[in-house]
Amino acid sequence: MFFLSDIDQKKLLNQILPKARKVGVSEELRGWNWYKSPLKPYYDDTKIPMYSVCSQYCPTRRDVFVNIVKGAKGVPSKKVIQGSAIHETVRTAFNTFIEGQFTSFESWYSSVITSKGVVNIDPIIKERSRNVWQLTWAYCESRLRDLSSRQPYASKRDIIATALPFLIEHRITGELLGLSGLLKIDCFDYLRDIVFDIKVSDESLDWYRLYPTGYSLVIESVYEVPVDVGCTVYIRFKDDNLIIDKDLFFINDDLRSWWVEERDEKLKIVSQKLDPGFPNICSEDCMYRLECRVEENLNQ
Ligand code: SF4
Repeated sequence: MFFLSDIDQKKLLNQILPKARKVGVSEELRGWNWYKSPLKPYYDDTKIPMYSVCSQYCPTRRDVFVNIVKGAKGVPSKKVIQGSAIHETVRTAFNTFIEGQFTSFESWYSSVITSKGVVNIDPIIKERSRNVWQLTWAYCESRLRDLSSRQPYASKRDIIATALPFLIEHRITGELLGLSGLLKIDCFDYLRDIVFDIKVSDESLDWYRLYPTGYSLVIESVYEVPVDVGCTVYIRFKDDNLIIDKDLFFINDDLRSWWVEERDEKLKIVSQKLDPGFPNICSEDCMYRLECRVEENLNQ
């Protein structure tokens, strides 16, 4: 998932990094300037989750009002349930490999995923999760063998740390930027300083870039190191085939400003309990359709 292909490497080295070095990022939009405008959150007493800042499913941002102000949980669609299972699978496959636990997919899936209620043993989701697990392990084994053969005198710890330089589901606080709870970053490649975010989606959407952008700002705010490259990892399924596409990009000023604008608008909705109203068209995948429909009918 997080290994760069030959083409990705070429794009990174010949397009994205040269552009990032030439254009640069405005100092005021580096996460370590969280205590100054424009990064400083307006509302000290209000915090919201990263998904609320980045999600663009609702054109009026009413999803934030319904979820946070009114406390609605929403009804997850099958796509959301599948996405949760795939995220959990990637996290566990990587971490068990890195920690040297030779867990089988079958035993883990039935004991952990099912008990968490993430999946009601949907056979298609299970089969897709198995494919993701097997691919992740195959990549990890291949990388480890390749690096071991080229560095025969390195320690095991050193080999793992360089062959698989990934912090998986890294926990980090986003409170300096007005975010709530401990965030989970799908993956941070600490050798190349790339933030990865997984999307289990057939669609490639521009706003998915807001997630790696937000995480890069958070990493900069906490660790005070620059993070200039983000990557959305698309996991797709066509019949029985698993397809991985990557959108690798420079986290430029425009993306950073967009993220800050979204955060400010949504913090305002929550802090002032503002109902932004209904859009003309609601997304079929919106989790809050039930709540909104009931309210809309009551208001008519
Ligand atoms: S149902 Fe419509 S108005 Fe309500 S949160 Fe979803 S997209 Fe927005």
